[in-house]
Amino acid sequence: HAPAKLATDVPLENVPPLYDGRRASLSLNIVIVGAGLGGLAAAFTLGHAGHRVTLLESAPALGDVGAGIQVSPNATRLLLRWGLSRALASSAVEPEAITFRRYDTGERVGYTRWGAPMAKEHGAPYYHIHRADYHAMLLRLARTAPGVHVRLGATVKGVQPDPTVKGGPSVTLTTGEVLHADLIVAADGVKSSLQKTVTGLDDAPTPTGDAAYRAIIPTDLMLQDPELRPFVETPEMTAWMAPGRHLMAYCIRGKKEYNLVLLHPDDGSVESWTEEGSGEKMRADFADFEPRVQKLLSFVKSTLKWRLMDRKPLSTWVHPHGRLVLLGDACHPMLPYRAQGAAIAVEDAAVLGSLFSRVSSLTQVPALLHAYQDLRLPRATVTQESSRLNQKIFHLPDGPAQRARDGAMRAAMAAELD
Ligand code: FAD
Repeated sequence: HAPAKLATDVPLENVPPLYDGRRASLSLNIVIVGAGLGGLAAAFTLGHAGHRVTLLESAPALGDVGAGIQVSPNATRLLLRWGLSRALASSAVEPEAITFRRYDTGERVGYTRWGAPMAKEHGAPYYHIHRADYHAMLLRLARTAPGVHVRLGATVKGVQPDPTVKGGPSVTLTTGEVLHADLIVAADGVKSSLQKTVTGLDDAPTPTGDAAYRAIIPTDLMLQDPELRPFVETPEMTAWMAPGRHLMAYCIRGKKEYNLVLLHPDDGSVESWTEEGSGEKMRADFADFEPRVQKLLSFVKSTLKWRLMDRKPLSTWVHPHGRLVLLGDACHPMLPYRAQGAAIAVEDAAVLGSLFSRVSSLTQVPALLHAYQDLRLPRATVTQESSRLNQKIFHLPDGPAQRARDGAMRAAMAAELD
């Protein structure tokens, strides 16, 4: 892991087989638990593979979550294949480069061109998008599949994975309603309750020691300031690296909004997309960052806070009875330091849909789930581990290791700009 590569190398090794639109000769009754980005993508791929899919989501509405997300080419190449090129082009921003800066002086220490060279090298563009737009896009997509039924306000409280029990595998909702299924996909996120049934482990996700503040500011405020205008006019992903902290910033929504993700030592936040953070505390935590960052933070009216959790790689994603499987953060939560959590969940969905477009008998289900695990688990594990490694690289204290990191990045930047 050469430090110069940091998060700029998009992990495209072992890319999954693309979902190819084949329809299964046997239509299964599938329940997916969780309509996050992973569950929605799986509803689309499994629905289009010819299955009847009930997608259960505890939230009463898929609302506006105030944060941006990066969509790297390993995900966009699938989204484009699924017909989302126009939707992406209209709501996402394609950054022209990634720039790494020193936190206190703002000195540029690393630079890699993205934009057209990235799209050419990886076969698809890199995008920055608002999460709400991404969710809405995948929800619309899932609903294009004929057999997909989305049920909001439906919370699963228990799962019965044994196919030999009368009625077969089932989930039970908090209302007492029981839904039977040939296959249950647990896409219920980092705090997955179904994960415990699959692995038999009664452990919780691991706090990583870091937390994130997230905030969005209108770019018209930035355009009025000559020092901030370039961040909008030439959209880039900018990362300011500091001891124990870093700040990621990029444009979303047609360059109308600027998304800030401020990573810092955890001081007792919770895992939630909606917990309010204190703007004053956030500004105090980043007071030693360069003046342009102070200006950006002065525009922040409200922030959200998120404790960052991950999990040691699991040894299995498939329940021994072979009818219950994990997908997305439910099996591989990771630090967002390679911006890969949702991308890997979307890849999971592509692989699961592709495999289940080949099913012709119920007896094949366990083998197909194990094939899914074999294809996905090693890649997810490598990505979880490299995301953890980036925590150390981004957050090096000022000193010899930090100088070596910055020196390597400067050398790579010189070669890039040569
Ligand atoms: P979730 O999105 O957590 O969805 C799980 C769903 O299940 C939820 O809607 C929940 O309500 C529902 N649910 C849970 N339990 C039940 C139940 N019992 N019954 C019914 N429904 C239930 N990834 C990237 O690819 N790029 C990035 O740039 C990026 N940036 C990130 C920045 C931050 C600060 C964080 C924290 C994460 C970031 N990620 C990023 C990671 C990404 O957000 C996650 O990996 C992704 O959202 C996981 O999707 P999921 O569908 O697996 O889980």
